[in-house]
Amino acid sequence: MQRGEILNGLRESDTDRLADLWRRADRTRRRYVGDEVHLRGLIEWSNHCVRRCAYCGVRADNRRLTRYRLTDEEVLDCAKKAVGYGYGTVVLQAGEDPELTCRRVAGLVERIKTETDLAVTLSLGERSEEELAAWRRAGADRYLLRFETSNRVLYNRIHPPKTGQPSPAGTSGPAECNDRLTILGTLRHLGYEVGSGVMIGIPGQTYDDLADDLALFARLDLDMIGVGPYLCHPNTPLADRDVWPEAPADRQVPATEEMTYKVIALTRLVCPRANIPATTALATLNTRQGWEEGLTRGANVVMPNLTPMQYRALYEIYPDKACIAEEGESCHRGLNERLKAIGRKPGRGQGDSPNYLRHLAADGPPAAAGVDGCLVRLTGKN
Ligand code: SAH
Repeated sequence: MQRGEILNGLRESDTDRLADLWRRADRTRRRYVGDEVHLRGLIEWSNHCVRRCAYCGVRADNRRLTRYRLTDEEVLDCAKKAVGYGYGTVVLQAGEDPELTCRRVAGLVERIKTETDLAVTLSLGERSEEELAAWRRAGADRYLLRFETSNRVLYNRIHPPKTGQPSPAGTSGPAECNDRLTILGTLRHLGYEVGSGVMIGIPGQTYDDLADDLALFARLDLDMIGVGPYLCHPNTPLADRDVWPEAPADRQVPATEEMTYKVIALTRLVCPRANIPATTALATLNTRQGWEEGLTRGANVVMPNLTPMQYRALYEIYPDKACIAEEGESCHRGLNERLKAIGRKPGRGQGDSPNYLRHLAADGPPAAAGVDGCLVRLTGKN
């Protein structure tokens, strides 16, 4: 798919042509990743964060937020719930929390891998190569790190570097690179199944930017791609329209439900074998039907929230997050029925990305991926 075609798709407003886009995306989804919907149990491990991302409600400067961190036992309990519900994967997500040390994360990953058959996906922010390698050795299968936007100027505005680190290590300066892209390369090299994605409708994000994002998904050859609407959090700098102006109206991407469907559908067309979730941010815009609409317009993954109820509202990356009121059990039962209603079924097994499996079959596991003289586990899946 050419960039021009992507751009036209993003700007499309004709109802018939949009219906055609949804149909093409759905056909492509069925052909390349099938009818199964893979369920990933989301465990929001900690909302402590040292970073100051201008869009995110758990940023360090948000002093109004009560901070929490699950104990290892609590995370393990959630993982066992995932097994009970028949999910094949848990996603451990958190702010950039220094208390989630290399050793602690590795230890917990190892326990989950020893005590269950779950695939483990980590989403713990920008971590060092040594940490990522250690976690992979401990058995982590996948890593999610959105690059958020491919527009470097916009990225640098919304994503200040770590305190004390003026520019990402080994690069020529903040304006020159998106440090997350470097980490995505490291993850690939270490043999992870690699996931990334963007927010849709960040103030200042243009249609051209978003078309570039989609082209970059294809260039990065991503295994998993998460896209969701930007949702304004009042206690963040991005909420201040005087400081963060939008692009001119004819160029600014709207953070709408329809725009999210367009991006999901086009993402499916440019990366047919990727696992693509109907995200919680989308379900937040349309609690009743957001998941279903996403799943019939290109998506094939849902991430039900397994975080213990008392913490769920505190993982407030944006307000009014969907699924904060529903207990795992009832959310789970409701979901099965919702899938059946659209003629889909819950996935079995770990639900690896067909994109990843294809590479594994063609190239074999990454040759050495030595970091610090340590050999990365070569078996990959077990
Ligand atoms: N610390 C981890 C996890 C962050 S939350 C990391 O940075 O990767 C996961 C994703 O939520 C982010 O990558 C971002 O794309 C999304 N997110 C954060 N704030 C948001 C907001 N206000 N609206 C919509 N999505 C948001």
